[in-house]
Amino acid sequence: MRLRKQVQGYKMKNNFNIENLVRENIKSLKPYSSARDEFKEFTKDMVFLDANENPFENGVNRYPDPQQTTVKKELSKLKEIPATNILLGNGSDEVLDLIFRAFCEPKIDNVITLPPTYGMYKVLATINNVEEREVLLNKNFEPNIDSILEKADANSKILFLCSPNNPTGNSFSQESVETLLNSFNGLVVIDEAYIDFSSQKSWLERLKEFPNLIITQTLSKAYGMAGIRLGICYASEEIITILNKLKPPYNVNELTQQKALKRLLSKNKVQHEISKILEQREKLIEKLKTISFVEEIYPTDSNFVLVKVDNAIDRYNNLLEKGIVIRNRTTQALCENTLRLTVGTKIENIKLIKALKDI
Ligand SMILES: *Cc1c(COP(=O)(O)O)cnc(C)c1O
Repeated sequence: MRLRKQVQGYKMKNNFNIENLVRENIKSLKPYSSARDEFKEFTKDMVFLDANENPFENGVNRYPDPQQTTVKKELSKLKEIPATNILLGNGSDEVLDLIFRAFCEPKIDNVITLPPTYGMYKVLATINNVEEREVLLNKNFEPNIDSILEKADANSKILFLCSPNNPTGNSFSQESVETLLNSFNGLVVIDEAYIDFSSQKSWLERLKEFPNLIITQTLSKAYGMAGIRLGICYASEEIITILNKLKPPYNVNELTQQKALKRLLSKNKVQHEISKILEQREKLIEKLKTISFVEEIYPTDSNFVLVKVDNAIDRYNNLLEKGIVIRNRTTQALCENTLRLTVGTKIENIKLIKALKDI
């Protein structure tokens, strides 16, 4: 194993230089400067005649804040991380795409993903014409560290770690993630879409230690706001500065910013919903154990459960006939005959169990 010497903080990656990873065209890119970039003294009672907007107020007649200052300020408080380490996007999917475009030269660079995992990494690699190298998780759905480091070369720009992982539901062991952060020579993206359901801590509190770490989170899952599309990226100021250069100026719209802010301010409500979901998850797992054709229930740290059944296609169709839609994951690596069940409300879960019993 090519392990680096363990030393404190940034020194751990003493030869890490983000400039070596950025594409040349991005390095020399002069970003579009919007009207709102050039003048942003929102607080003063100014007359804005700079952006060709319709002056009649209706709540959304003005362009949104391109830096989403108020939302970031609230997130910064909530997550105890400076706003300069945050970039927001139109869902985490946009954030992930920005990372590809900033660091991966089409047809030359490659990224590493660990199937079975979130399908967007592969789709984004294909769209960006970047080779995707797959290293399967082991049978406990943990990263195969040696194989990952073997598969990596000088053009391996990004390693995607989804933890808790979709569709398996587990979080990766902290030791594995730390080893990869220290040994992989490119950027490590930890996709924490499900972190609010997890019993493990976010890697956010260790962001400062790893200059190659990018963490993505989202308001789509625990925060209950999939409809507004708000994705979050946390990284070093250097990385955030690069991504800011290429993001579309108004990528997070005004309505999204307003809704997100309101939700971030109702921390207790979100926390209450999360505990309800976790409580329901445990009840659902207990009930699933009584279903005859459920052969395995995989440990979960998320708001869904992956189960192995006798025949995933048949059981999927059986449930569909009863009006219940779940996700059939049988075609994914290591997931033969598995179904992914999202934890719903108490009533929804009762319906699911009843339907499963009736099959
Ligand atoms: C659902 C999910 C996301 C969320 O993507 P958004 O674009 O923010 O809605 C990101 N990563 C994983 C692994 C997911 O399952």
